[in-house]
Amino acid sequence: MTAGGPTRRSFLGGSLAVGAAVAGGGVLGGVLGGAARASTPDPDEPQPIPATGTVLVTLGTAAGPAVRSPRRGIASAVVVDGHLYLVDCGLGVVRQAVEALLPMSELRAVLLTHMHSDHTAELPGLLLFNWGAPVDGFTRPFRVLGPGGAGALPEGAEAVVTPATPGTEDTVAALLAAYAYDVNIRVYDEARPPLPDLVVAEDIALPAGVGAGPRGPLAPPMAPFLVYEDERVRILAALVDHPPVYPSYGFRFETPHGVVAFSGDTAEHANVVELARGADVLVHEAVYLDFYRGNPDYPDEFIDHLAESHTEPEGTGRVAAAAGVGHLVLSHLAGVATDEQWAGAARTTFDGPVTVARDGQVFPIS
Ligand SMILES: [Zn+2]
Repeated sequence: MTAGGPTRRSFLGGSLAVGAAVAGGGVLGGVLGGAARASTPDPDEPQPIPATGTVLVTLGTAAGPAVRSPRRGIASAVVVDGHLYLVDCGLGVVRQAVEALLPMSELRAVLLTHMHSDHTAELPGLLLFNWGAPVDGFTRPFRVLGPGGAGALPEGAEAVVTPATPGTEDTVAALLAAYAYDVNIRVYDEARPPLPDLVVAEDIALPAGVGAGPRGPLAPPMAPFLVYEDERVRILAALVDHPPVYPSYGFRFETPHGVVAFSGDTAEHANVVELARGADVLVHEAVYLDFYRGNPDYPDEFIDHLAESHTEPEGTGRVAAAAGVGHLVLSHLAGVATDEQWAGAARTTFDGPVTVARDGQVFPIS
């Protein structure tokens, strides 16, 4: 696309709507319907994110890495007074961001919860396809914040690639190196700003004395600690329990208009309660184990991993109730169940509102 090409907004009114039919779902289906009846406003059609206030967008809501449903890979956005913050970069985040009309030129930070590939696989696409003014992308520096290197593989794991355990800084450096030819020629040929100057990658440093490690404990009880702050947003993190992955984080966004917390990938855990204490919205991962149990396609070891590393809906409700959150949103959905099965199970332990997130769903916080 060139500077004289269609804007994202005009693009949405055209060919992109055709692709929405594949994805299905309420919001994306609305794009298609809106295009077919151009003169009739459709309340489900994506609207520009408000210039003021805080908005959560659940861009992609699937667990991974297998692609078993129309849902896109896990990714969420928080937009605060028009400034953009992303949490995780699952498969589909680049297109989902376009369809949600996110202000990519106002990107301030990308947060990675942990280094499982279903949370990071489209980070290179996010960086390369939103780079520079010709693509309505970022032209100013922003931060990529995520786990540092684990330091060691789990006990008993063999190094089948290398023994390396790259964290966020090393991963971003390796991505830029892998795309060095593309980056170099686009700076030369298209007058884009040097990409390495814009992507400021940082490993999250744990506070002293936490006493955690790759061979345990993975998530000792801890108070959330500050990892990012600007004039609008404070972002805090805490270790969560996602064996065998270390470090694995949840996040808490404190904004002038409300608080949004993300569990990350985790078993039911007290650190998530602290992250979500009094939050307006808690986005919690969830697994529906009844979908897997007794299914010969899934070995017992796999089901054991799900049970130890993820949270059933009843557990998400217990966390939401203990934290006193205003609204529980289920995302990173592993297993197939109806909305009523997901939410009904969570409502057995939480009296407040529960939403089973859809891709592209917008949650105004204030
Ligand atoms: Zn994970």
